[in-house]
Amino acid sequence: MKVFKFGGASVKDAYSVRNMSAIVKAHLDAPLLVLASAMGKTTNAFERLLALTMEEKDHSSALKEIEDYHLNIIAELGLASNEVLTSDINNIFEQLKNALNEFSSSMGYDYIYDQTVSLGEVLSTKILSSFMNQEGIPTTWLDARKVVKTDSLYRQAQVDWGASQAMIKSQVNQYIETGVVLSQGFIGSDSDFKTTTLGREGSDFSAAIFGTSLGADSVTIWKDVPGVLNADPKKFDNTLLYERLPYKEAAEMTYYGASVIHPKTIKPLAQKNIPLHVKSFQAPSENGTIIEECIVPNLAPAIIHKDKQTVISFKISDFSFINEHHIHLIFEHIKRLNLVINLMQNSATSFTICLDDNPKKREQLRTALMEEFLIYYNEGLEIITVKNYDQDTITELMEGKEIIIEQRSRNNFQMVYKN
Ligand code: ASP
Ligand code: MG
Repeated sequence: MKVFKFGGASVKDAYSVRNMSAIVKAHLDAPLLVLASAMGKTTNAFERLLALTMEEKDHSSALKEIEDYHLNIIAELGLASNEVLTSDINNIFEQLKNALNEFSSSMGYDYIYDQTVSLGEVLSTKILSSFMNQEGIPTTWLDARKVVKTDSLYRQAQVDWGASQAMIKSQVNQYIETGVVLSQGFIGSDSDFKTTTLGREGSDFSAAIFGTSLGADSVTIWKDVPGVLNADPKKFDNTLLYERLPYKEAAEMTYYGASVIHPKTIKPLAQKNIPLHVKSFQAPSENGTIIEECIVPNLAPAIIHKDKQTVISFKISDFSFINEHHIHLIFEHIKRLNLVINLMQNSATSFTICLDDNPKKREQLRTALMEEFLIYYNEGLEIITVKNYDQDTITELMEGKEIIIEQRSRNNFQMVYKN
């Protein structure tokens, strides 16, 4: 069995849906499970809708925008007269309107978020399923909320692997004989059958959950890039495509902030030795990248850039030195505030960390530690990590930048700088 995942960009309009369906049609030689995200930027649109509702502002035009967007795609796909689809879509919007009307802040934002934003994936796959069937691809729509079981940590639910695996296996196997099984990325449900979501961009991770549960031969993520590139083409020129990439390299790239694959995706696949293909939905016959257990000699340096960085330095004010007590104290508060460090460094009299900009938490950290240290911070910085670096790459990257921290090990180079 194969697992395909189509993200929002690959189903953002009628043209894209036709393209997606053609890709599926060209791969019907083996059993196929397909996952899809919400169409285009629907998740962002839902977040805006929810923000208005929370602020008790008029949300009717934000709601209408989402509705019109989907109805247009339905019309352009020639599905307007499909009665089953029309009634499904009406029901989903009815459900959404009820949820928004019943909304009260005592329910908790994260809970409401999951009950409503998740409908983006439901809408998308209802439309896709009808279209694929219309195109002669026998497709069964499977509700991911029935099979992906999680805890109740809304908006970042943790997967119950055992329960999910059993449910996915039994449900998918029941329908896979008759054709494609189509389900949703990003969403699941807790033990009370309340909808949960796995975190923004979480549908790659869903593909790994389904893929490992089904013991798939491979998982393919269809994207708007040719595969995994050694740098983000929106930020760097002359990028290179990796044809093959070891799991470990790919996982570490996501750790340093490469956004091509969701960070949680690689580990479960690596544990089951299931190859992950990253391919372009615009050029489906091209090979893209295969991430698998392999050795690739002379891997091209991977350049990972992140902006919106804060550097915080904790300095000792008397003539003593930074010791384990100080570092322990700093980390206690970093842990308490759930902060993630992107880079750290210490000298005789100071300890320095780099993290994503977060003025609110930065202030909390500062308040907690200002008795003990002199604290300096600098926001709006950028960080570049180069894996498998060579000197030429680094020299070029450093040119013309005001570098604040520079660090290297045998394989990795990192610098924080002001642009
Ligand atoms: N639709 C969700 C999002 O935009 C999940 C995903 O696309 O992976 O974050
Ligand atoms: Mg997406």
